Amino acid sequence: MSLIDWFANRRKSGPLSKEQRQREIADGLWTKCAECSALHYTKDFHRHLHVCPDCGWHDRVNAPERLAQLIDSQSWVATDDHLLANDPLGFTDVRSYRERLIQAREKTGLNDAVLTGLGTLEGHPLALGVMDFRFMGGSMGSVVGERITRLIERATSERRTLVLFCASGGARMQEGMLSLVQMARTSAALQRHREQRQLYISVLTHPTTGGVTASFAMLGDLILAEPKATIGFAGRRVIEQTLRQKLPEGFQTSEFLLKHGFIDCIVERAQMRATIVRLLKLHSTEEKTPARSNPASAYSSRGESV
Ligand SMILES: [Zn+2]
Repeated sequence: MSLIDWFANRRKSGPLSKEQRQREIADGLWTKCAECSALHYTKDFHRHLHVCPDCGWHDRVNAPERLAQLIDSQSWVATDDHLLANDPLGFTDVRSYRERLIQAREKTGLNDAVLTGLGTLEGHPLALGVMDFRFMGGSMGSVVGERITRLIERATSERRTLVLFCASGGARMQEGMLSLVQMARTSAALQRHREQRQLYISVLTHPTTGGVTASFAMLGDLILAEPKATIGFAGRRVIEQTLRQKLPEGFQTSEFLLKHGFIDCIVERAQMRATIVRLLKLHSTEEKTPARSNPASAYSSRGESV
């Protein structure tokens, strides 16, 4: 329903009471585009996969919704969702790390900032990881690193294509060195995946920064990105102060990185599923495997990916 239709309907049904108006705003009936400030009926915005129909801005999508957009229904089997973060440093800033974890879990309904699992995409067996920016800025702590490392190792041993959707502010500072070492662990696991000639597709969404960019996000055999996503390591101010030079406008966007050869392709969200399926077909040495309820058994008849 467009804004004009909505107002036309509203005129027919008469003016809203003050309570009704307040309820509609509180219920999140409208969503404001972060890029062009246009107001959209929230249900329409969701139907458009959180992409602004006016300016094409790709708003953030949480991990469960992203999964629903991608994976064959009934095929998803989550892995390692029992792993929970500890507070090894007893870290406290304004609030304690333990408190922040509890709040993030309540807010998102997730255990940590990534969902990992096995499933199929139009019958192609995948090992899939999807990061969720709502959980402490999608930061990579020991649980995110462990889940992703185990997912990569499983993809390697079961000869599955690996796909990771990245959205992160970087390493989780509350875990100090334990979060930084996840960069090395995930990268080493990816190297072993590569040595077995297995495919890894990395998808960069808004925003992908810090230690995630500096590790598995940029190590894909194929690196896709959503339009206008912010992708970088450090922020503009830090780089400018270090290099003592002015940086070009938009230097940390998908479009800039594509132009300079850092990524392979920009894919609109509506085309993401079809694009990944096309890539899987191109890299498969056999006919498409039909979708089955048990992805592990579906895989056994499939040949080697390259
Ligand atoms: Zn917009």
